[in-house]
Amino acid sequence: MSETWNKRTRAVHGGTRRSQYGELSEAIFLTQGFAYDSAEAAQARFIEAGADEFIYARYGNPTVRMFEDRIAQIEGAEDAFATASGMAAVSGALTAMLKAGDRVVAARALFGSCLYVLQDVLGRFGVETVFVDGTDLDQWREAIRPGTAAVFFESVSNPTLEIVDIRAVCELAHAVGATVLVDNVFASPVFSDAIAQGADVVIYSATKHIDGQGRALGGVILGTRDFIRKTVEPYMKHTGGSMSPFNAWIMLKGLETLDLRVNAQADNALAVCKAVQGHPALLRCIYPGHASHAQAELCRRQMGRGGTVLAFELKGGQDAAFAFVNALKIGRISNNLGDAKTIVTHPATTTHQRLPDDRKEALGITPGLVRVSMGIEDSGDLVGDMLQALDRAVGMVSPRD
Ligand SMILES: *Cc1c(COP(=O)(O)O)cnc(C)c1O
Repeated sequence: MSETWNKRTRAVHGGTRRSQYGELSEAIFLTQGFAYDSAEAAQARFIEAGADEFIYARYGNPTVRMFEDRIAQIEGAEDAFATASGMAAVSGALTAMLKAGDRVVAARALFGSCLYVLQDVLGRFGVETVFVDGTDLDQWREAIRPGTAAVFFESVSNPTLEIVDIRAVCELAHAVGATVLVDNVFASPVFSDAIAQGADVVIYSATKHIDGQGRALGGVILGTRDFIRKTVEPYMKHTGGSMSPFNAWIMLKGLETLDLRVNAQADNALAVCKAVQGHPALLRCIYPGHASHAQAELCRRQMGRGGTVLAFELKGGQDAAFAFVNALKIGRISNNLGDAKTIVTHPATTTHQRLPDDRKEALGITPGLVRVSMGIEDSGDLVGDMLQALDRAVGMVSPRD
């Protein structure tokens, strides 16, 4: 890799390894094992494997390594470890580094499975997690005391799109020697500069924008070479959450078009947010890339753009939200995000259904909230589809509100 290459060039060429055939498109090494030339060679590889030497696909594989090297180069991280899913990355990174008696400080607005890992799993092993409002620096300051081992948050929260100030929280954490792990899914590698902003570890669910076409699960942990190879790799390779070579190939090819897709999605999100301003069915449109968002300035500084997801809060509660999503002709009702297809989700009845009502309210997950993950379709078509569907929700008043 040339040090001067831009992210977009790294995304196409970074990490490429070619076999003796010189194939242009990256090969899928669909093999769990590797044959050695001699018993001595096998012995030597088990003592220390070189950069292009592999032992077993749970430990590493050429296609998986291409994906890891490419995304590390895009993110500006020293190294990366690819995992079977985003949750294998979150749980792996945390469990690999924490031990009984450790204290974690985390933002309250977390993906349900991340909350389960911290509270239920790590809690059972004697790791204590303190939760704070991620947008309130005073709460972070108070909670991050000496003895805090790790700080964990989603840089943009799901589904209400609040932004955590990476630079400010990292400063507080580093002052007490805590490791900062950022779940950066909503920013995607395209709008991320998290390592430069101070994050020690960056985590992606590759299932989202990196595949971006709804085909495969995957995840990745990025950090220093020391952290990835000495802390993460031993844990992951012995506990089994590694990425399959086939999925690594999908993700590797996904990286080539990631910038184009994610920027097109952000263009569409901004176009839709502008077009729906003042619509009579809406209480508000939440989009961090629009001036109406309370943290628009922080978003611009931290991510450059507002990302690919927006949220509508409809006046008529759940009935209006359902009328809106049911009336869409392009937007599909599902629960993935970052996809080439526009996807709408009603968090209160699906992804966040199990949260008690008071927790939903505290997180802003109201009956009228709809999350919209913008796809790469034509912007005019999407604006038209959103407006006609919002028109169907005008004047509805839900008896449940
Ligand atoms: C989807 C998601 C995950 C989990 O990723 P999977 O690939 O589904 O395991 C973790 N964190 C956030 C913020 C997500 O959106």
